[in-house]
This record gives sequence, structure tokens and C-alpha cells, in this order.
Amino acid sequence: MKVFLDSDGVLLGCDRERPSRLALADHALDLLAFVLARAEVFWLGPQGRGDARAMVEHLVRHARASDRERLLSLASKVRAADWRGLRTDALPADGNFVWLDDGPEPGELAVLKGRGWLDRWVWIDTRESPDDLVRAQQVLGKRLGGVAARGEA
Ligand SMILES: [Mg+2]
Repeated sequence: MKVFLDSDGVLLGCDRERPSRLALADHALDLLAFVLARAEVFWLGPQGRGDARAMVEHLVRHARASDRERLLSLASKVRAADWRGLRTDALPADGNFVWLDDGPEPGELAVLKGRGWLDRWVWIDTRESPDDLVRAQQVLGKRLGGVAARGEA
């Protein structure tokens, strides 16, 4: 199973003191550790297009100094995905994946719908719901948990 992660709105939510700015979301490090232990993990946010290092720098820039060492260690294990137009181009053709994202583009949603993959997308929005990564981990736990995970709703 492959897991695809967006950054802004998923691993990065709003800074509590300055809500117009991004900050590493609550539980983001625990979620990364959880998913890296169970799946192949890829970046599927614009900052990581074909370049995992750029995504790691983007995340580290928005993390507290005390979180940076653990973040670097975890995030360096996540791979880059690459695509040209739509991020859905980077998704595996066998449909064996989960994608955490706060807002796929309409064209990306159309691809997911057309292939019967809408259930692979998990809507997460840490800007609206600061604790949403707790729910993300529960959903991933169910989907990555057993042999029945493939295609599970
Ligand atoms: Mg986003």
C-alpha cells in the first residue's frame, strides 16, 4: 500500500498565534511515524513535485525548532512523486493507495471519480480542524491494518 501526503492543510495547519501563517499541525510527527512504519509514503503536494528535499525544507521552515530534528529524520524517509498536470498522474494504476489532501483540484476529483477511486482520497483539513490528524491516523489504521485493506471503503 502506498500513502500520498499533501503538506499545506494536512501536515501544515494554521499557526495559533498568527492564523494567516502555516505551522506544523498537531500530531503531524506521530502521523508520519505511524504511516512510515506501515506503508510506502510519498509527497503529493506542490512543494514536493519531483523533489522530496524541497518539501522537507518547506515543512521544516514551518516547524518549531524543538520539532525540527524529529521532523527531518521522519520526512527524509518520504519519497518524491512526480506529475505533469494533475497530481492524480502520480497515483499508482492499481489503485492501491490512500491520499490525504485538503482540496484536490476539480480535475483531480474527476479522475478519482472516473476510476472509482474517490474512496482512496481522505479529506483532511488541519486549517479548519486542528486535530484532524488524529482522525487521519484512525482512518489509516483501518486501511493499512490488514490483508483486507486493499479496496476497503
Ligand atoms: Mg493542500
